[in-house]
Amino acid sequence: MIKFDQVTKRYPGSIDAIKGLSFQIDRGEMVFLAGHSGAGKSTLLKLISGIERATMGNVVVNGQNLSKLRASQLPYVRQHIGVVFQDHKILYDRSVFDNVMLPLDIIGFDRRESTRRVHAALDKVGLLGKEKTNPIRLSGGEQQRLCIARAVVHRPSILLADEPSANLDRAYALDIMELFKSFHQVGATVVISAHDETLMADYGRRIIRLAHGAFAA
Ligand code: ADP
Ligand code: ADP
Repeated sequence: MIKFDQVTKRYPGSIDAIKGLSFQIDRGEMVFLAGHSGAGKSTLLKLISGIERATMGNVVVNGQNLSKLRASQLPYVRQHIGVVFQDHKILYDRSVFDNVMLPLDIIGFDRRESTRRVHAALDKVGLLGKEKTNPIRLSGGEQQRLCIARAVVHRPSILLADEPSANLDRAYALDIMELFKSFHQVGATVVISAHDETLMADYGRRIIRLAHGAFAA
């Protein structure tokens, strides 16, 4: 469960990126986050994942009030969250396999179970057989799948994706959406942002629309 209670985020020396937002996303829900560039979508996702902290108000994730949590406790909350970053954050000096292994290394899984899970995640996104490949050799769509495998390999209860279909043509984008739907179907809470609402329309899910950090009409 994700709950925002009167949340404001002000970046140093900047305007309020999020302005007094209150809403709730239920466990197991799949929701879209829409709005133009600069509307506050990334910031909202970063507040959920604890990458950014609220300036005012409370952000509650899986029963933990992130606004009151000590920084040292944040990693435990993050273990239950998977993030597909807008800028990918792929490490091009290591293989596809090692990129997906990264979150498990951080958590400290044993090697055998980790290897099994990395294979399961790569299988899920259709990249099995490319384990040893350097990510630079993957197509744009494949790189996006790599990011998704890395985001789900630790079986997070919450999966966040920041504009995962940006820069992909429509067929690829729909593929990616189906992939997120499959994680939603096995129980994950899924939040996906996009500035293009046409992709969302087909899914009949709740759409949270933002404009200038507030709910859009
Ligand atoms: P979106 O994801 O919808 O494009 P963002 O959350 O990235 O929106 O940005 C919302 C607003 O916050 C914008 O005005 C942006 O310029 C500002 N902003 C985002 N990140 C930072 C930052 N690190 N420092 C200062 N301002 C920022
Ligand atoms: P595993 O046995 O490793 O869980 P599965 O075949 O069950 O593999 O799942 C394939 C991929 O989907 C794995 O990467 C797994 O982490 C991911 N996955 C399975 N269930 C969930 C879930 N509830 N939330 C997020 N990811 C999941």
